[in-house]
Amino acid sequence: MYGTQVADRTQPIGQDENAAPTVQVDFTLGLGEGRLDVSVLVPSGRVTLTQILPVLQSLSSDIMASTVEQTEAEGHRISCRAGCGACCRQMVPLSIFEAEALGDWIRTLPQERQDELARRFDAALIALRDGGMLERLNPKSLAEKNEQAAPLALDYLMLRVACPFLVDESCSIHAIRPLICREYLVTSPAEFCVFPTRDKVTGVPVPVKLSSAMFKLGVDVEGGVRGWIPLVFLFAWMKAGVRPGDAIRGEGPAVLYEVVKRLATGDAAGGV
Ligand code: SF4
Repeated sequence: MYGTQVADRTQPIGQDENAAPTVQVDFTLGLGEGRLDVSVLVPSGRVTLTQILPVLQSLSSDIMASTVEQTEAEGHRISCRAGCGACCRQMVPLSIFEAEALGDWIRTLPQERQDELARRFDAALIALRDGGMLERLNPKSLAEKNEQAAPLALDYLMLRVACPFLVDESCSIHAIRPLICREYLVTSPAEFCVFPTRDKVTGVPVPVKLSSAMFKLGVDVEGGVRGWIPLVFLFAWMKAGVRPGDAIRGEGPAVLYEVVKRLATGDAAGGV
């Protein structure tokens, strides 16, 4: 892996009067055998980790575009297509910072849209409860029983409970979807994703995962064991009114570096 470093040549970028001032940050990411030269605009003033999420989403798009290019150069074809929501029945680990951002976004929606979403989340929780999964997802229970992630994830998938944001087999929050959703691509036939116990699913290896860096930061902030929540718990989590992003606050480049340095140390290479 190539080293990762935030360049020291950040520069003010001219902005219109209403836009928050930004600076350009350049760095290089090692991506397996390759490397990715990154140039992003981040707020120059003080921000929280949650507030720079759009920058991380854009960086994730760049990482995945490079990963896809490398995968296709090796002769593989990505099977994922718009309108295929087979993978959206998996348990989605959502970093607490992304939960905060999604919560803020939901609160801006018209009340009837919020109510509709709340109903969808309730229906998913009821289906999980009826399938005996709700108790297993409880963090306390997970810690006490030391349940392994893989069998839990598989049992969740077999319940066929769709993500509450999935509408007509498409993601209704595509532009702001979680980092981990952005990082999931397969090269095996799409229909294999429906019954992964019977068919072999070949995922695209992602050399650096921003989602995992965010989980690690979540563990640091919470002093807990995982730093994420199952996405399906989002509405319940919102009721606590916590703002974990406030714990990682500083000038934009410094906050970005808190994430990037976790990619550099390899903390982000593992799974959930
Ligand atoms: S957030 Fe969107 S992409 Fe992620 S599981 Fe839900 S519907 Fe699918």
